[in-house]
Amino acid sequence: MTRDPRYDILFEPVKIGPVTARNRFYQVPHCNGMGRTFPSSMTEMRRVKAEGGWAVVCTEEVEIHPSADHTPWAGGRLWEDRDIPLFARMCDGIHEFGSLAGIELNHGGVMTSNRYSRMAPMGPSHHPVALPDPLQARAMDLSDIRDLRRWHRDAALRAKKAGADIVYVYAGHQLSTISHFLSPYRNRRSDEYGGSLENRARLLREVLADTKDAVGDTCAVALRFAVDELMGDEGMTCDGEGRDLVEMLAEEPDLWDVNISDWDHDSAPSRFKEQGFQDDYVAFVKQVTTKPVVGVGRYTSPDAMVSLVKGGKLDFIGAARPSIADPFLPKKIEDGRIEDIRECIGCNICISGDMGFAPMRCTQNPTMGEEWRKGWHPDRIAPKRTEDSVLIIGAGPAGLEAARALGERGHEVTLADARSEAGGRLIGERRLPGLSEWGRVVDYRTYQISQMANVNLYLESELTAETATEFGADRIVLATGSRWTADGIGRTNPRGISIGDCATVLTPNDIMDGTEPTGPVVIFDDDNFYMGGLMAEKLRADGHDVTFVTAAPEVAGWSHNTLEQHTVQKRLLEMGVTLVLTHNIAALRKDEADLACAYTGTTRTIPCGTAVFVTMRLPVDTLYHDLTAQGASNVTLIGDAHAPGIIAAAVYSGHKYARELGEQDDRAIPFLRELTELAPLPEHRKAAE
Ligand code: ADP
Ligand code: SF4
Repeated sequence: MTRDPRYDILFEPVKIGPVTARNRFYQVPHCNGMGRTFPSSMTEMRRVKAEGGWAVVCTEEVEIHPSADHTPWAGGRLWEDRDIPLFARMCDGIHEFGSLAGIELNHGGVMTSNRYSRMAPMGPSHHPVALPDPLQARAMDLSDIRDLRRWHRDAALRAKKAGADIVYVYAGHQLSTISHFLSPYRNRRSDEYGGSLENRARLLREVLADTKDAVGDTCAVALRFAVDELMGDEGMTCDGEGRDLVEMLAEEPDLWDVNISDWDHDSAPSRFKEQGFQDDYVAFVKQVTTKPVVGVGRYTSPDAMVSLVKGGKLDFIGAARPSIADPFLPKKIEDGRIEDIRECIGCNICISGDMGFAPMRCTQNPTMGEEWRKGWHPDRIAPKRTEDSVLIIGAGPAGLEAARALGERGHEVTLADARSEAGGRLIGERRLPGLSEWGRVVDYRTYQISQMANVNLYLESELTAETATEFGADRIVLATGSRWTADGIGRTNPRGISIGDCATVLTPNDIMDGTEPTGPVVIFDDDNFYMGGLMAEKLRADGHDVTFVTAAPEVAGWSHNTLEQHTVQKRLLEMGVTLVLTHNIAALRKDEADLACAYTGTTRTIPCGTAVFVTMRLPVDTLYHDLTAQGASNVTLIGDAHAPGIIAAAVYSGHKYARELGEQDDRAIPFLRELTELAPLPEHRKAAE
């Protein structure tokens, strides 16, 4: 197929200083949890993005000096020449496909605790570091500022040596010393680097000039800047100092990479922000500079992209998450395969990788992070190696992905589900407040399957061990999912909760299936991710009196990893949900619940017409046990039926089954592993021997 001429404009080359991007698709810097810790994984992931058509592919933050060491985060590092080969590998991979490689240099200042280097952190003024570590950053004097400029210049030269086409000066997200100098609330200096915006911007202006001087002959110098920090007059605003700064430096960088701050706002989840949520903030930038501008907003629709370019708002369509969910997004537009785009759902599970110091995963793209270690390609899969036909029972995320990927391999696949709609857990979850984009997990796969003659989906088809066996498929895959439990067993109460005879307990499944609670509702959240907060939000919006109880110190604690915790707790408070934190449910009786303080055990009693337990799920695996009891040996459990987890894990499980069917892998560890290389013995040890 060929591309729709409406999208031609997206494939125009754009000059950035001394280099030219082959089209307007720009993968902005993004963390990935691989970085220098899993460098082979990181470099291959970036290479695959270039193959997928992104004209510019950037690194994550790359530290320039041990005085700003982000340990334990696994970003990049260009402290010395020994760090160059990693980036050279990345740049070479990106160049293979004619794309440009960008390296985002950064000195993190008060955002770093220097846990590895043990140097004193530094910033514009004395201030506690941002991590809750018991230490402060010291105020930089003029010689520190000269040092920082030199470190940045040296790192830029290393980036150039590695093959970078674009070198970044980073002044965004309050994550860099340069942005801390710019900040009216962090910079309390009275010298020429503090006070007026002109003074606070001095370091940025100097570093920009240094970088251009060092590498600007062959490399474009990009400036990443948050034009609005959403703090009103306390910070940068797009109609205040943010705009003033862009006007002041309009023609200095070769490219403006603009966004809003902090990271929670820049990478807002779909639960709270729609595609294009940054447009109004950054739209002014193109009016005050002739340099190309890149901006982000979780764009997956080519029509929206075209209107941004034609409307004079952006020159490049920037993307982090859409490029993770579908590294081949540009190529699919180019090839006229719009319907095949695997759209990001804005769940931010990818960000939890970086937060957890582990290779990132993606709900939509199970190959993310597996490009090198498992050799999984996001747009290609090996043809089938056996003629096995497969019956998959359960059309939730796991079953759908297994069917899609097996279908792509060429297997005859039958996918059956008892319900009248495909989607499994997502039938209910996509209808919860703010989660409609999550439905893309289902819609993408049902569409793909509908295009395959060798895959048939049967709804309203509940299978038993007998009917499943009678079907006669070579393989039976059980993707029968899981259900929330009502006994209270979970992290806090491994033996369950004492529930009186006349007490009413519902689960999230009951609520999503339409059961209406009666009386005051008490939600007990022992899961600490999104479901508890969403139950509270939904029931409160439905008009119920809701009390949210958790043994944790905050609502939805795990959602720090998806950048949502603050917004979730704020929303519940604003809706009038009563929060009772650090409390367990000690006992439940008719119309009342005993709450116990998680520290002292002191109890108090509150009214409770209905309790909703968000505690744990159990696999729906009766069919599996029935089949194996009959001696079936061709049965495999996948997804939540195997082990309840997040949707990303179910999709991954389905994909893995499909990839591995008929393949041999006898390795003890079924993926390639990166080992830190042992350094030669140091001089002091040699002397001692
Ligand atoms: P996962 O997250 O692992 O994909 P889900 O819970 O989302 O699992 O989906 C499980 C699906 O399996 C549900 O749609 C459910 O209706 C279906 N299912 C469970 N048992 C049977 C059965 N015996 N026959 C047909 N479908 C079933
Ligand atoms: Fe998008 Fe979720 Fe994938 Fe991140 S994990 S890229 S937010 S679908």
